[in-house]
Amino acid sequence: MEAVGAKKAQNRQGMYKVVMEQFEHAADVMGLDAGVRKILSQTNNEIVVHFPVKLDDGTIEVFTGYRVQHNNALGPYKGGLRYHPTVDIDSARALAIWMTWKTSLAGLPYGGGKGGIEIDPKNYSLGELERITRRFTYALGDNIGPDLDIPAPDVNTNAQIMAWIADTFSSTQSPSTRFANLHVVTGKPLGAGGLEGRDRATGYGVVVTLKAWAERRNESLQGKRYIVQGFGNVGYWTSHFMAQEGAILVGVQDAGGTLYNAGGIDPEQLIAHSDANNRSVGGFKGAETIDPATFFALDCDIVVPAALGNQITAKNAAGIKAKVVAEGANGPTDTEGEAILREKGVEIIPDILCNSGGVIGSYIEWLQNKRAEYWKIEEVMKMIHEKISTAFTSVVNTANEFNTDWRTSAYIVALRRLEKTYKERGIFP
Ligand code: NAD
Repeated sequence: MEAVGAKKAQNRQGMYKVVMEQFEHAADVMGLDAGVRKILSQTNNEIVVHFPVKLDDGTIEVFTGYRVQHNNALGPYKGGLRYHPTVDIDSARALAIWMTWKTSLAGLPYGGGKGGIEIDPKNYSLGELERITRRFTYALGDNIGPDLDIPAPDVNTNAQIMAWIADTFSSTQSPSTRFANLHVVTGKPLGAGGLEGRDRATGYGVVVTLKAWAERRNESLQGKRYIVQGFGNVGYWTSHFMAQEGAILVGVQDAGGTLYNAGGIDPEQLIAHSDANNRSVGGFKGAETIDPATFFALDCDIVVPAALGNQITAKNAAGIKAKVVAEGANGPTDTEGEAILREKGVEIIPDILCNSGGVIGSYIEWLQNKRAEYWKIEEVMKMIHEKISTAFTSVVNTANEFNTDWRTSAYIVALRRLEKTYKERGIFP
């Protein structure tokens, strides 16, 4: 048991501490209403489920799943499900809270939720993952629903997993409501009610914010050298759209390897390699393998963390040479790391703005299902572009108004909307 406890402690990311420090700071700067501050300091609901699944060899394993619902003042809880050994109540809370700020900042009719299973999916067969997902969905029961709490993909979860969740949820409700429940999750495959463009929505949004950052400096992304940590959904699609802007990918790190090529790495060749190698960039011939510890100090203009939380810390922030960190991941920079970056004059495009393309795409998918429509990819990308550009402008203007950094101003935009809602609506009873 002690070994298990030690492993859990090592896995723990401590993101809850970071999100609360960010919140307290922004609330102080804007003078957030004391009552609203108390409400938002707590999560509304925290669901922990333990459920058994029969594995391929006939043995039974019991898994632990989480769903934290932080706040639903603006609409149903919304946020991803993560399958990873680091999933615990602390990370689910932190990620749910970030979702409340993100959906508020993007102007969406949603609150914030997040969850997942403490599991390394690489250790299970596809059939086992399907049974684990379906049983997890069943265990969550009526705690999720299309107008209550709408999960989506996150680390190690994908369109296939969303399709299993939608099917299990619908199959356990009355048959008469089967098609009224399609939007219990977003990020589904196209044939199962998914949205054209949802796969690339987050990475596209990251590049929209980077273009806006460059334009403010009277520059473009053409020829800019960048590195990406994580080459999954967000890391790959960010690189895909960066290539269209003429930017050069010089370094990539994922769970399976760290690569460098000063002459540039082709994202399309790299994703083909990763797809053929169990989702790992390790062993790619088009770059040299380097020491993982040197990754964030690589010579470049832009750093895109697109993997896990708390990756840029006091240990490595001082070595960062880039001009900007675009937070594709949720919570990639901890408080100490951020202080060092500010001291060095490195700009940060904060996660709740930078990676909000994903939840905007999810919102469009939800609308599409509610209205029984199919949207064209051009319309989807246009709406993501408009919503992120509007949010970016609000963040820049609010930073000027309060003479503060972009993370704090992004929080202020989000918190103002929540504060206004609570003031107008009042508190039941
Ligand atoms: P993914 O599972 O598709 O990819 C995760 C990537 O991170 C993989 O390449 C994996 O190898 C890498 N990784 C894992 N552990 C690592 C480590 N210790 N060091 C370096 N790399 C490591 O997940 P994703 O959907 O791309 O999500 C990535 C991040 O973006 C997460 O923080 C997630 O919360 C955030 N995000 C995702 C979406 C979305 O739509 N998928 C939206 C907003 C934010």
